[in-house]
Amino acid sequence: SDILLEVKELRKYYPIGNGKQVKSVDDISFSIRKGKTLGLVGESGSGKSTLGRTIVGLYPPTSGSVVFDGTDLAEAKGGKRREINRRMQLIFQDPQSSLNPRMRVGDIIAEGIEAHGLAKGREKTEQVRQLLEKVGLHPDHARRYPHEFSGGQRQRIGIARALAVQPSFIVADEPISALDVSIQAQVVNLLADLQQESQLTYLFIAHDLAMVKYISDRIGVMYLGRMMELADSDALFASPLHPYTQVLLSTMPVSHPKHRAARERIVIGEPPSPIHPPPGCPFQTRCPKAMSICRQMAPAWKEVEAKHWVACFLYE
Ligand code: SF4
Ligand code: MG
Repeated sequence: SDILLEVKELRKYYPIGNGKQVKSVDDISFSIRKGKTLGLVGESGSGKSTLGRTIVGLYPPTSGSVVFDGTDLAEAKGGKRREINRRMQLIFQDPQSSLNPRMRVGDIIAEGIEAHGLAKGREKTEQVRQLLEKVGLHPDHARRYPHEFSGGQRQRIGIARALAVQPSFIVADEPISALDVSIQAQVVNLLADLQQESQLTYLFIAHDLAMVKYISDRIGVMYLGRMMELADSDALFASPLHPYTQVLLSTMPVSHPKHRAARERIVIGEPPSPIHPPPGCPFQTRCPKAMSICRQMAPAWKEVEAKHWVACFLYE
């Protein structure tokens, strides 16, 4: 099969007392083909990070399943599980806090190589040097500490650490959001080059569409724990169907005149709290096209055009 990752009706709920729960990830289904990138966008609190972490197995799902290269994570035990853990890696938003300040960069990168028994001694040292070169750093940087590097360089170190264990799938959780705008494109280009070289598959998480536009083959838009729309990048930008996606596009710096017109009509305001989501469609409190049914029930997740999914009553 050319599908590497399949997420089926995945839910991740957190109890918050009084029998209540926050539905951080609510009934999400999608798949990613080998060597491709799914961009995932949404405001903070929309559940993107929770989804990414549940997929790589950092958090156990409340229900639903994650199937990685044909294996259901819930059924992968022992060596099989360790193998999957190696093949799925996470790159964090803030490399500053995810790199141990007391460890030399070389040791940070070597940790996973050792843990998974991939190499030792001189061979391991040589792999670390090659990884540093691969991400655009000098091999001698292995002897330095994280604080000696800029934010962009630290993100390169985070990428080298992820690559060290020869993954096939990487969840990049806002990998460029904390970086200077001038550095962001460099890191995205690096990720794109590495994908080509090593046949990597990505879930690339960002809070806006501009950041995922270049690298994504498909894009999913999340809102309050739910997927609102999912389509090929070109289709999403050319003909966004969901009112929320239309709002997101209208707020992009360089947008199509069609979307700019929409922008003037929409006063978007703050999203509702995930603790008190509105009844019906999660977007109804901010949606310029909301109808009475939208306040009564949630729209179904439907494929309304080939490979173009949307949850909205306008298309039912
Ligand atoms: Fe707007 Fe209704 Fe569609 Fe929700 S279902 S996005 S409220 S039109
Ligand atoms: Mg996040």
